[in-house]
Amino acid sequence: MPDRYWRAAEPKDAYDVVIVGGGGHGLATAYYLAANHGITDVCVVEKGWLAGGNMARNTTVIRSNYLWDESAAIYEHSLKLWEGLQGDLDWDVQLSQRGVLNLAHDLGDVRTSRRRVEANRLNAVDAEWLEPSEVAEVCPIVNVSPDLRYPVMGATYQRRGGVARHDQVAWAYATRASELGVDIVEHAEVTGFIVDGNRVGGVDTTRGRIRAGRVALAAAGHTSVLASMLGVRLPLRSHPLQALVSALYEPVLDCVVMSNAVHVYVSQADKGELVMGAGIDPYNGYAQRGSFHVIEQQMAAAVELFPIFAHASLLRTWAGIVDVCPDASPIIDRAPIDGLFLNCGWGTGGFKATPGSGWTYAELIATGASALARPFVLDRFTSGALIDEHGAAAVAH
Ligand SMILES: Cc1cc2nc3c(=O)[nH]c(=O)nc-3n(C[C@H](O)[C@H](O)[C@H](O)COP(=O)(O)OP(=O)(O)OC[C@H]3O[C@@H](n4cnc5c(N)ncnc54)[C@H](O)[C@@H]3O)c2cc1C
Repeated sequence: MPDRYWRAAEPKDAYDVVIVGGGGHGLATAYYLAANHGITDVCVVEKGWLAGGNMARNTTVIRSNYLWDESAAIYEHSLKLWEGLQGDLDWDVQLSQRGVLNLAHDLGDVRTSRRRVEANRLNAVDAEWLEPSEVAEVCPIVNVSPDLRYPVMGATYQRRGGVARHDQVAWAYATRASELGVDIVEHAEVTGFIVDGNRVGGVDTTRGRIRAGRVALAAAGHTSVLASMLGVRLPLRSHPLQALVSALYEPVLDCVVMSNAVHVYVSQADKGELVMGAGIDPYNGYAQRGSFHVIEQQMAAAVELFPIFAHASLLRTWAGIVDVCPDASPIIDRAPIDGLFLNCGWGTGGFKATPGSGWTYAELIATGASALARPFVLDRFTSGALIDEHGAAAVAH
């Protein structure tokens, strides 16, 4: 660990690249622009404090067992980067590959889950199908009684999946990018763009005007707000997504368990808190809070699947604003305006993609093309070449 983290930079008048959004994706992009492509005249502008958005609010689940080839490619690339991240950044990001179970509760679930296992294997993504008794071996506190309203009929299991410490990841990318010359400017909200004909030439911020050869959006739930300043309408909906932690609890859970049907995803922090994610609130919103009934339903679902959690007490809830595309896959592309790049639509599941997203976006910005990004073009919503990951992403993470 360094003595000092990133520099608090004063914004210069102009940069080669300005990245809007100092969350995980923006910071990773800045780092890979510098580290992989030698582009260091880069500024990350963040309206709040560094990584105080979704990056600080997610439940840190990492996996790569998505259904379609395009998704498997980018999420598996990301997982491989996770596996080397400690060495690459020389930073303990506390990656814990404790395994991720995705439970199946009806015959439809079983069929689609088994199909996903086969698809994953064809893409060299590690995946196993477990019968209920094997689920109980991996995670003895899951209720596998056949009498449940949603009985556990099996599960997919990705052993290489797990969790990592989200804020350490952000601080690591920020510090290493800063050391390579990237300016990180906090408390600078982008309020408009410098436009010359059909070209974006920089941003107006609450800390002044910054010119840029290229402007790259990485603003998660606020991407469509920013794009609308340029008259660009994106197929994104922004929703609050909530999560919660329990008070300290004895160690009972050493893997990640997710269930679409009952709607629980849970892991246990090293200190002992149970970390659980809820569903998105159905309305669009930008306040980082959600409805209480969503948390109430979440707790009921958790106790149904894990009777032992009835002894836990709720400590804290919070929400982030997630940007969801109609096919539950991201957009990584040039915008229809020259000089502007888009990286958005990661929705409820972009933490796991942080390294892969930053790596790919940096390649696109630096070279104008990226094989991993190519399927995630904006145009797919008119061409129909959708990458429907609702099945893999239903509880999202
Ligand atoms: C409750 C919850 C649980 C989640 N759980 C998981 C999980 O377990 N696994 C998983 O893979 N994913 C999960 N996610 C999703 C994941 O957190 C996001 O997909 C991912 O963090 C988005 O990328 P980011 O880190 O760059 O976003 P953010 O951290 O939100 O970064 C975007 C930044 O842009 C800034 N910004 C916005 N507008 C402007 C502006 N005008 N000017 C300047 N800056 C601006 C924001 O302040 C923010 O800091 C979860 C999300 C939530 C909310």
